[in-house]
Amino acid sequence: MKEILEVLERQRQFFLTGKTREFAFRKQALKKLRDNILDMKEEIFEALKKDLNKSEEESYMTEVGLTLSEISYMLKKGRKFSRKKRVVLSMAQFPAKGYKMPVPYGNVLIISPWNYPFMLAIEPIVDAITAGNCVVLKPSEISPNVSEVVKKLIEKTFERGFVDVVMGGKEECSYLLDQDFDYIFFTGSTRVGKIVMEKASQHFTPVTLELGGKCPCIVDKSADLKLTARRIVFGKFLNSGQTCVAPDFVYCDRTIKDKLIEELIQEIKRQYNNALTSEDYPKMINAKQFNVMKAFIEKDKVIYGGECDEKTLKIEPTLISSTFESEAMQDEIFGPILPIVTFDNLSECEENLRRFSKPLALYIFSRDKRVQKQIAINCDFGGGCINDTIMHIADPKLGFGGIKQSGIGSYHGKSGFDTFTHYKSIVKKGKIDLPMRYHPISKIKYKIIKMFLK
Ligand code: NAD
Repeated sequence: MKEILEVLERQRQFFLTGKTREFAFRKQALKKLRDNILDMKEEIFEALKKDLNKSEEESYMTEVGLTLSEISYMLKKGRKFSRKKRVVLSMAQFPAKGYKMPVPYGNVLIISPWNYPFMLAIEPIVDAITAGNCVVLKPSEISPNVSEVVKKLIEKTFERGFVDVVMGGKEECSYLLDQDFDYIFFTGSTRVGKIVMEKASQHFTPVTLELGGKCPCIVDKSADLKLTARRIVFGKFLNSGQTCVAPDFVYCDRTIKDKLIEELIQEIKRQYNNALTSEDYPKMINAKQFNVMKAFIEKDKVIYGGECDEKTLKIEPTLISSTFESEAMQDEIFGPILPIVTFDNLSECEENLRRFSKPLALYIFSRDKRVQKQIAINCDFGGGCINDTIMHIADPKLGFGGIKQSGIGSYHGKSGFDTFTHYKSIVKKGKIDLPMRYHPISKIKYKIIKMFLK
């Protein structure tokens, strides 16, 4: 633990040098990061293959590519984001200038999970350094190969003290959380999110929590079922369902259930034929997660799939028939099992969704604009898609984050810059000012004050 304290001290000293306050320094760092990711991409792919059996294509699309696109966006927009913003002040301030000055928080702790172990470690770093912070990253111990490559990438790219990695698990993370950071950015489970928030309160440290939960996928009777099935299968079985924004369950109109299931099966066959023997189909991260998933597969409830391979830790894309009382509907699934639950009308659908905590994502498949609008307005969720799944996380121009139990705050693009920035509000005055605020406040002064302040 002494080593951790040394890292922190080095970081504090580095921030005080003021180097990160210059945008040119940040830009250089982003460019170097991009170049080194490209140089090391084979190693990154290999580590993702070892930890999760991700194919190169899936690794590029969901980890390396998304990270590169965040870097490109920040290289394009970062300078503009970093400029102070003029504000036109009210008459009561006359004569004065006002502006908001973006400044970095300072020393930031970033804690990442195992499911997208590259992207979820590096993307928050991109946003944090664009805003001028120093970063300590604690990657996940559950994905050891990727965490090692991430460490190597960071040591190759950044000066010590600017961005550092602390390896380890619960114990090290807990120790880090006891320290006085200027900002904490956590991605992981709701359970650990609570611990993070509690610990952060000891130092009044602001937090962003990117958490999980059950993301519903509503299918209305007007939906284009072929297209719906294609996009649900894409979003659900990517990374074998180990995705925080994967549709957790399908909630469909009873009258279209059979047809939708037919289409889902066709799509699974098209996109994931012979998944268990496919070289490219991701595995469960470890035996523990494999067994949790396996327990959800009640044989008499299986509509399609249900086969597992204990040796490779793979589980077939599986559809199960469920009700809100089923085991699989009690908690976030985080694997390739898709329960299908039905409703009879939209008000029943909305009412039942309110029984869950507010989800990170929600998806609506419908051709009826009124239905799309009704669900988007009446249900609470972090973000989502109409007639698609998970694509809302893939554009830096859209912020990404949860609400209440699924998270606090957001990142990506400008939202990410703002997350890691404190805006100082500043009023700049000259010699002249309006005298009515100074005591003694006469009747006439009071009258003028009331004229201005209303
Ligand atoms: P986790 O909460 O178990 O672990 C996340 C991090 O916290 C790891 O680095 C781990 O070492 C550390 N940690 C674990 N227990 C700790 C403790 N008691 N004290 C201090 N630190 C501790 O999460 P996970 O299993 O790695 O990831 C899966 C969860 O993350 C799912 O719930 C998923 O929905 C969520 N998730 C959310 C997002 C998002 O962007 N909102 C993205 C990916 C995953």
